[in-house]
Amino acid sequence: MIDLQRLVRPNILKLSTGFHAESETDGQPCRIALDANENPYNKPFNRYPSDCQRELKAQLAKLKRVADNEIFLGNGSTEAIDLCYRIFCQPRIDNVVAIEPTCRLYRQFAAVNDIEYRPVPLSDDFQLDASQLLKACNGHTKLVWLCSPNTPSGNTLDTEEVEKVLRTFHGMVIIDEAYSDFSRRNPFRIRLSEFPNLIVLNTFSKAWGGAAVRLGMAFAQNAVIDLFNKVKPPYNISRMAQECAIDLLRHRYDIEDWTKIILLERQRVMKAFESLNCCEKVYPSSANFFLARMKNARNVYGYLAEKGICVYDCSQEALCEDCLRITIGSKAENSEILGLLRFYSPAE
Ligand SMILES: *Cc1c(COP(=O)(O)O)cnc(C)c1O
Repeated sequence: MIDLQRLVRPNILKLSTGFHAESETDGQPCRIALDANENPYNKPFNRYPSDCQRELKAQLAKLKRVADNEIFLGNGSTEAIDLCYRIFCQPRIDNVVAIEPTCRLYRQFAAVNDIEYRPVPLSDDFQLDASQLLKACNGHTKLVWLCSPNTPSGNTLDTEEVEKVLRTFHGMVIIDEAYSDFSRRNPFRIRLSEFPNLIVLNTFSKAWGGAAVRLGMAFAQNAVIDLFNKVKPPYNISRMAQECAIDLLRHRYDIEDWTKIILLERQRVMKAFESLNCCEKVYPSSANFFLARMKNARNVYGYLAEKGICVYDCSQEALCEDCLRITIGSKAENSEILGLLRFYSPAE
């Protein structure tokens, strides 16, 4: 059991429902819509899009093995991250606990919302120690942020440790599964019924190849999803985004093919990195990128940048000294970076 009355911000609890943003009369679409000050010309873009995104959610529900009413759609999962703070955390009173290092959006939106952010370092091999994490929580900790597979490390977190957090912590546990399509591990997304305090995030931006669409998902039990729907801005998902996503779902066999190729390439590139002179260590990955500890990350980064190749320099992040995060690109792109690094000598 979780006590949403205690967890949710009082001003949010008081909201009755969100904006009622759909031209409907008793659930029927209306014949002549003269209620929303839309323009009768420039069809179909003159009308506001569906605000409850029924068609898209129905398709996602089947694919993701959740119920329609266990899905929230956001303008990227970034919007869902922001909403978690706005639903649960009172500025300057509450705090959140997160693994470190991880996706930087959690810290960023804590700052935007004026919420204390408590990072807890992972082990040297980027594993979660549940009891260590729980020690950082107190009576004002509303959220715990986990990310699995994690970034920039690329590994999945131990299932048993994650379960321990879910069972022990009395606030919401968010597991960002942005990269779960690249992992063989069962996602926590399909275990919503076991954990009333679980929120899982997914995105169209990575395995689905839809970063420009700006569409992200939060999955949770219906009582929690209702809160997201109360707080979200009306019409947050454009008509174009909804249509684009439905089209992507139609092509999901292509997406499986892309994922297979990316995973084969990941194996090839990681192996090649291990034999590079400038590389100290390659960390195991369950995502479409990997972390590599270099002899001098800054110099390698600069050398690649000069040749027009951008990698992510995470050497400033906790446990990531001298590390670069390399995204798996197309075969040709991967071959090019490998070719350049084979020629690289630190003297340059
Ligand atoms: C890319 C990424 C996001 C952001 O996803 P959008 O849906 O594009 O906003 C969130 N979390 C993680 C871990 C990511 O890697």
